[in-house]
Amino acid sequence: MAFKNRILRYDGGGIDLDNIDLIKTPSWLLLYAKRNGINTMPLDVVALCDKAGISVTYQTLCQRDGMDIAGILSSCDSRWSMYVNKKYVERRQRFVIAHELGHFFLHRQDRSIFTDTVFFRAIYHTEEQKQEWQANEFAASILMPRDDVVRLVDEGCDWMQLADAFQVSMLVMRYQLERIGLFSKVLKKEFTIPLVYSSYRP
Ligand SMILES: [Zn+2]
Repeated sequence: MAFKNRILRYDGGGIDLDNIDLIKTPSWLLLYAKRNGINTMPLDVVALCDKAGISVTYQTLCQRDGMDIAGILSSCDSRWSMYVNKKYVERRQRFVIAHELGHFFLHRQDRSIFTDTVFFRAIYHTEEQKQEWQANEFAASILMPRDDVVRLVDEGCDWMQLADAFQVSMLVMRYQLERIGLFSKVLKKEFTIPLVYSSYRP
């Protein structure tokens, strides 16, 4: 019986998905979500935070260096809290939460507070900027899993339908489509939105 229980507890090539400290990749986190009954299409990011023990608060956040603070992830006495700019629309908030989840799963050993203003830096020069890029990649991968994007594109979904399916903004959807190399296929007759990779907000 002990052997059977061990098998049941393991997934994804022997990774113990019940141990949240071992989750370091988007795919493991999505498996963790599914095992815990959390909707992944679209991903219920708030339920995931709750399961991970992170409180989520929507509130007014002040500016830093003339830019809105989108989100903050911070730890106090080993309890993690997330603060999300309440004036953002829901889809933008979802990306902020997914980005902060990226920090939580990838970087929480390094820092106790993450304060975010600018997303989507294509070029990074410092370790902090590298972590921002990694958090974006993580967020894109959990909100818009590659296999699901490919499947929906093959089924004929257009840009807007994809954004609706994953409950993300059009710009965030474009970011992921370009990462996967499918944007030109999806674009077809649709209008284009100028995209400045160095610094723009979802
Ligand atoms: Zn960040």
